[in-house]
Amino acid sequence: MAYDTIVIGAGVGGLYAAAKLARAGLKVLVLEKNPHIGGTSYLFRRGGYSFPMGPLAFGYPGRVESFMEDISLEDEIEFRRNHFQLIAPDLDIVYSQPLAGLEEDLRLLFPEESDGLRRVFAEMRKILNAVKGRAFGSPLARGLYPRASTAEVDPRVKPGAPAAVESTEEPVVIPAASASPILAWASTSSRPLLESQISNAILRNLIGSMGTEPPDMSLLNLSLTWRVMSEVGIWFPSIGIHGLCRRMAAAVGFSGGEIRTGEPVTKILVAGGRAVGVLTARGVELRASHVVSNADYKKTFLELIAPEDVPPDHLALVRDTPYTESELCVYCGVKPGRVDFRRMRATHLFYRRVIRPDADRKADDFDNMEIEVCRFSDDAPETVPKGRASLVLRVPFAYEAVAAWRAGEKKRKAGYCEEKNRLVWKLIRTVETVLPGLADAVEIIDAATPLTYRDWGQRTLGSIAGWSWSPETAAGFRDRLLVRTPVDRLYAAGVYAARELFLGGVPTALYTGSLAADLIIHASV
Ligand SMILES: Cc1cc2nc3c(=O)[nH]c(=O)nc-3n(C[C@H](O)[C@H](O)[C@H](O)COP(=O)(O)OP(=O)(O)OC[C@H]3O[C@@H](n4cnc5c(N)ncnc54)[C@H](O)[C@@H]3O)c2cc1C
Repeated sequence: MAYDTIVIGAGVGGLYAAAKLARAGLKVLVLEKNPHIGGTSYLFRRGGYSFPMGPLAFGYPGRVESFMEDISLEDEIEFRRNHFQLIAPDLDIVYSQPLAGLEEDLRLLFPEESDGLRRVFAEMRKILNAVKGRAFGSPLARGLYPRASTAEVDPRVKPGAPAAVESTEEPVVIPAASASPILAWASTSSRPLLESQISNAILRNLIGSMGTEPPDMSLLNLSLTWRVMSEVGIWFPSIGIHGLCRRMAAAVGFSGGEIRTGEPVTKILVAGGRAVGVLTARGVELRASHVVSNADYKKTFLELIAPEDVPPDHLALVRDTPYTESELCVYCGVKPGRVDFRRMRATHLFYRRVIRPDADRKADDFDNMEIEVCRFSDDAPETVPKGRASLVLRVPFAYEAVAAWRAGEKKRKAGYCEEKNRLVWKLIRTVETVLPGLADAVEIIDAATPLTYRDWGQRTLGSIAGWSWSPETAAGFRDRLLVRTPVDRLYAAGVYAARELFLGGVPTALYTGSLAADLIIHASV
């Protein structure tokens, strides 16, 4: 039986594309490798607790809501804003506040840096004003997408419409002439500006990384990231991120689409330069007029397609452009009365106990790293037993640090559990220095390593946050959106289908899923 579209993967991007296509009357089949939907936005149960495998919250709630309204008739979603705090040597600040208030707070904390702060914030404001209202916060999503007309990118936007400034969440067209300074900001590191204006390294790193690491982002990304943190906000939906996935899956079924879980795809079939279907792990060939891959972009091009079906330069670019790294994540079910939460003033606390030079840092030097502590049950009280709380602890962790323990897909060498346990408790002991009592309060515990994100999350080398954010590596891809691929009728959807996370993780996955569906609908009429 032939389909209009086969979607590989039931993560956020794949489910959204499928729901929109099914609603448009196309015959859609989703094939998911895992036994459940949701991809990395999956919620898993341990004891009486449910923990989020990946995303904890996201920006642009208005966009997410309107995406959901486009495919589902169910009730409105409410959103709860999350706040962010940093505790590091000589610093304790809640930084998820409007830019003006933040600048004022920083001037009070670092009065000798007042002039530099004024200049840095003025530069960020200039950049934000120049891109205001454009393409969901990034000029890069539109106007720089040369192979599709504006109407193809978003049918609600009329080609050539003036660049009116609307709310920060609404898309408008960028006149081509305005693109060049924006492109320059996109490829200029923020480090020289910050180093020339701010002499205190703690303050410089706070502005440059929203934490304690040296500035690494481009001027554009840094400004946009601050806008999301300060003005747009990071939010959690009342139905949970897993609830969004369930709604999308229901919308697929309601419109006659089909989702098969536990059904891995091993190959994308290409004939005459055009995607024509897929081969499943059970050896079944399924034909379709279009294929959408929600598998990450490297997996799609380096594992699922025969190399001879991809232009060699594209293959080289995909191989050579790095992804963001992975992390270690510890999920704790706790008796909250036993933890001293007095120093934690926001749902997300980033905590670094000491700052030692990078050269000395080992993979498990947790005292010397930023650890995110999220009190997840603040957002989702229904995920814990009555009177309990859940904490998610996340810390950057390189894939190479655990790679040697992998003996095959979901297989580990002897001793891995003990090593994982060692890492988990070492991390908890560090967090306990800011949340006394934590170790004794834990009654349920589980952990994910980069191997988990590789084998259960299906992410290449356990990457979690899209393509590398460094401006140096951004240059290779001509397009920022990778939804339309060099293989005819093959589309990418999900966080890796955008070269930059211009909306953040979940909304970018929705946006690219929506765009893939629009391109297919446009091609089908
Ligand atoms: C640890 C972690 C923390 C994160 N935190 C945040 C956060 O706080 N906020 C945020 O917005 N985002 C966060 N993200 C990013 C988050 O993953 C995304 O925002 C969102 O879940 C991405 O969805 P996606 O569409 O890219 O698909 P994915 O979640 O990557 O799902 C892809 C799907 O494709 C399936 N698949 C892959 N290969 C095949 C195949 N061969 N055959 C069949 N199926 C296949 C996979 O099994 C999976 O279900 C985090 C991610 C991780 C891993």
